[in-house]
Amino acid sequence: MSEAQCLGLSAEKGSSLHSGCATVGQAVDYGFRKDQSVKLDLFNPSQEHRMLRDMISAFTKEQVESQAAEYDQRGELNISLFRELARLGLMGITIPEVHGGAGLDAVASVIVHHELSKSDPGFCLAYLAHALLFVNNFYWASNDAQKKKYLEPTLSGEWVGGMGMTEPGHGTDVLGMSTTAVKKGTKYLVNGSKTYITNASEGDVFQVYAKTGGEISAFVVDRSCPGFSTSKPIKKMGMRGSTMGELIFEDCEVPAENLLGGEGAGLVHMMRNLEIERLALSAMSLGIADRCMEIMTAHSKERVAFGQPIYKFGQIQRYIADGYAMTEAARALVYYVAHNVGPEIQNRLGSDAAKLFTAPVGKIVADYAMQVLGGAGYCEEYPVERLFRDAKLIEIGGGTLESHQKNITKDLIRSL
Ligand SMILES: Cc1cc2nc3c(=O)[nH]c(=O)nc-3n(C[C@H](O)[C@H](O)[C@H](O)COP(=O)(O)OP(=O)(O)OC[C@H]3O[C@@H](n4cnc5c(N)ncnc54)[C@H](O)[C@@H]3O)c2cc1C
Repeated sequence: MSEAQCLGLSAEKGSSLHSGCATVGQAVDYGFRKDQSVKLDLFNPSQEHRMLRDMISAFTKEQVESQAAEYDQRGELNISLFRELARLGLMGITIPEVHGGAGLDAVASVIVHHELSKSDPGFCLAYLAHALLFVNNFYWASNDAQKKKYLEPTLSGEWVGGMGMTEPGHGTDVLGMSTTAVKKGTKYLVNGSKTYITNASEGDVFQVYAKTGGEISAFVVDRSCPGFSTSKPIKKMGMRGSTMGELIFEDCEVPAENLLGGEGAGLVHMMRNLEIERLALSAMSLGIADRCMEIMTAHSKERVAFGQPIYKFGQIQRYIADGYAMTEAARALVYYVAHNVGPEIQNRLGSDAAKLFTAPVGKIVADYAMQVLGGAGYCEEYPVERLFRDAKLIEIGGGTLESHQKNITKDLIRSL
C-alpha cells in the first residue's frame, strides 16, 4: 500500500484524505484536554496532519528537489509532476470529502505549501494557484451544477486552474478594476484583461473577477469561451517553476450560468479566499527560511577559514542565530493563524499579519544563507540563489507588504 493510499489520499470521488480529522476548532484541543500529559503540537495538531507532513516531505525530497533547478532554468511548470499532486489527492485539500476533496483544514494546506517550498517554491506557486486560487475559491462560491462541471477535471489534475484579479492598471487598487461583464441574453460579454496570472499558459479554467455595473462579480471562464485568450508567458525573476501571463477578454462570451453566486457576490469570494492564499504564501516563505537555515548551518560547520570552521566567528553566529529566531517566530505565527482560518472563520487580521511578518523572513534568511556561503551561495551550485529570487515574490504577490500594513491598521482601528 502506498503512503497516499495509507492516508486515504486519492483524487477519486468519494475517497478521503482523512477520516475523523479534527476541524479547525477541534484541532487546537487535540490531545490537550483529553490528556493533560500530551503536549499541544501547534504544527501537527492531529495524527492526520503528521502523516500528511511525512508524506509531502518524502514526496518533496524524492521527486520535487531533483527537478527544481532544471525547471527554474527553463521557466516552465513541470506538468507531469504537477499531476502527481492530484494523484496524491492534494488538489482539493480544503474541499469536503463528499465532493471529492480531502476535507482538511487550513493547517493541512499550510503543511503542504511549507514542505513543497523547502525544495521548489515556484512549483508550489502553481499548486497554490490551482488548489487555492481556483479550486478552493470556486468551491465555496459555486452551485451544484457548476461544481458538477468544473470540480472533477480540476481535482483530477486533468485541467489546470488559476485566478484572474490583477489588471494592468489595477493591482493593489483591485476594486478599481476595469474589466467589465455585460449580460446579453444567456451570456455575459466580458471585456478587459488580467495580468501576472499564475498558470495562465497551462490553465484550462480561471475564476475571473469583472464589474457588472458598479459591483464586482465572479465568473468561471474556460478555454471554450469564444473571445478568451492568454498571452505568452511573462518572464520573471523568481518562482520560475510556474508560469504567469495575461488573460485577455475580447467580447468574450461567458455562459450566464458561469456567474458565481449572483451579481455583486464577487467581492465576498475574493476577500474570503485572500485569507487562505496569504497564509499559504506565508507557509512558502517559511519553507524557504527552513531550507536556507539548514544549508547555512551545515555549511558553517564544514567551511574552514583562518584554520577554523566559520561558525566559530561571531558574525557568522549572528546570521545563524538571528535567522533561526526569525524562522521560529514565523513558524509559530503562521501555524497559530492557520488554526483560526477557514470557510466559516474570518481572519483577515491574522492572515495579513502572518504574511507581513513572514514574507521578509524568507527573503532575509535566504540573504543570510547567501552571505554565510559566500561565493558558493551566489552560484547555482546551491539552491540558495534560487530560493533568494523566489522569496521576493512573497512580499508582492497575494498583496504587497504595504497593503497588509493598511489592512491591519484599518482592522485594528475598526475594532476600537
Ligand atoms: C509571480 C507573480 C504571480 C502572480 N499571480 C497572480 C495571480 O495568479 N492572480 C492575480 O490576480 N494576480 C497575481 N499576481 C499579481 C499580484 O497580486 C500583484 O502584483 C500585487 O497585488 C501588486 O499589484 P501591482 O503589481 O499592480 O502593484 P501596484 O498596486 O501598482 O503597487 C506598486 C507599489 O505601490 C504600493 N501601493 C499601491 N497602493 C498603495 C497605497 N494605497 N498605499 C501605499 N502603497 C501603495 C504597493 O504596495 C507597491 O509597493 C502575481 C504577481 C506576481 C509577481
